[in-house]
Amino acid sequence: MAVKGAVLGDIIGAQFEFNRPKNLDWKNVPLIGNAFMEFTDDSVMTLAIKKALLEGKDLVGTMVTVGRKYPFAGYGGKFYKWINGDVHEPYNSWGNGSAMRVSFVGEYYEDYEEMQKMAEFTASVSHNHPEGIKGAVVTATCIWMARHGKSKQEIYDYVLKEYPKDDYEYSIAYSLDEIRPRYKWNESCQGSVPAAMRCFYESSDYESFMRNIFSLECDSDTFGAIAGGVAEEFYGGFGGLNGDGILEKFLTPDLYEILIA
Ligand SMILES: [Mg+2]
Repeated sequence: MAVKGAVLGDIIGAQFEFNRPKNLDWKNVPLIGNAFMEFTDDSVMTLAIKKALLEGKDLVGTMVTVGRKYPFAGYGGKFYKWINGDVHEPYNSWGNGSAMRVSFVGEYYEDYEEMQKMAEFTASVSHNHPEGIKGAVVTATCIWMARHGKSKQEIYDYVLKEYPKDDYEYSIAYSLDEIRPRYKWNESCQGSVPAAMRCFYESSDYESFMRNIFSLECDSDTFGAIAGGVAEEFYGGFGGLNGDGILEKFLTPDLYEILIA
């Protein structure tokens, strides 16, 4: 289930979102267990979207209701206002928030066109900038491809087509070794989605995918939420990692109920 992979990626990635030591030994540091490990806004919005689509509820209304239950989950400033204000209008955002919350769309819809249309819809309620829309569509499509037995190369080729090397400084074309020294923490779709997919592309299982994220000074919980769904679907679970146990332990009962619905 892509949603499980995304939420677990958020929880594990949160350890180094703001607290990443400069010389982190990302290959050997314990994968789980530091004090900053927790679910964040990425998980809350992922699960809000799942609840809305699964139960046929109003998308914006459900995002607002679920989001308000967790005011300290780490929303960006504008999105915090979007949730807590009286009107909930799109604000032309290209933030990675549209990509980090879309995994259920890639998991749930069978029809390719319908899946992409729904990904666009979930982005458009707040992140209606073309890059905000693209981030969500690409993320959901990669999950859909992994779920339908596409190869890593096919997923890579698709992401490259959407984020070509000449136009995007963190295109999937650049290896992690190439971008590691120059990557600057940022929270845009275009600065997150192709690099997160590269973390998946260079991985061999879910754990090594997360360690690739640890290797970059990046919005690590959101990288985990973006490509975690692809990794989970592609590798068919979490390997030796007790992902289900972590999810149950770290989510609130309310959120866990949505996760396993
Ligand atoms: Mg977050």
